[in-house]
Amino acid sequence: VLACQGVRKVFGSSVVLDGLDLEVAEHEVVALIGASGSGKSTLLRCVNLLEELDDGTIHLDGSHITDPRVNPDLVRRKIGIVFQSYNLFPHLSVLDNITLAPVRVHKRSVSSARAQALELLTRIGLADKASAYPDRLSGGQQQRVAIVRALVNAPRLLLLDEVTSALDPELVGEVLDLISDLKRDGMTMVLATHEMNFARQVADRVCFLDGGRIVEQGPPSQVLDAPVEPRTQQFLRRLA
Ligand code: ATP
Ligand code: MG
Repeated sequence: VLACQGVRKVFGSSVVLDGLDLEVAEHEVVALIGASGSGKSTLLRCVNLLEELDDGTIHLDGSHITDPRVNPDLVRRKIGIVFQSYNLFPHLSVLDNITLAPVRVHKRSVSSARAQALELLTRIGLADKASAYPDRLSGGQQQRVAIVRALVNAPRLLLLDEVTSALDPELVGEVLDLISDLKRDGMTMVLATHEMNFARQVADRVCFLDGGRIVEQGPPSQVLDAPVEPRTQQFLRRLA
């Protein structure tokens, strides 16, 4: 589904991504781990074309999306992204939050976007909140709405950046359950996380970022429990 080759991203004098390679297969769930500042968010933002690459290429389903001639809106229609803080528009109802981009940006009909939004809300048990404003929802409910909003265009790939880290601990579970459901449905996902237990539960593969590259990757049991690279060992030891 996704292929990043030699991705380089520089901010001022700091090289954040230094020729990073990453391939993600269909239905695969990949967790990015690494110290704060290791470039996890930057990589997700590059994939969603929120950052321009300084070098390298990214392909989605074989098509070169970092080609400057590509329309970013068409690419973003195929890639959902959810951030740490839910970023719902406070002045719009739940339903309008979900349908805004499909209707305005992607020119979908209001009726089809609404029907699909309601179907997704029903699936996560929040259909009764469709006309509520975000401030009437718990943090966990808001984050689930934000995830549903990212799903409304039926993306090929879902990017999740620390989606549970702004939540109270008791609300984390409902968001993790939703992500587990998506995994069961076969959604291809790349997620950045500081929570190793989350990575262990949902990821097929864990990638440890350091120095702008993936220095170690493999199944969670290998990377998290029996890392080979000294830098991975050191990172995990500091968390313990
Ligand atoms: P965290 O775990 O804290 O979320 P991260 O791995 O997601 O960290 P990034 O947010 O990708 O790290 O940041 C990587 C580096 O790039 C950091 O040093 C950060 O300060 C820098 N950086 C990110 N965005 C910008 C920007 N727009 N301008 C300048 N520097 C930036
Ligand atoms: Mg980050």
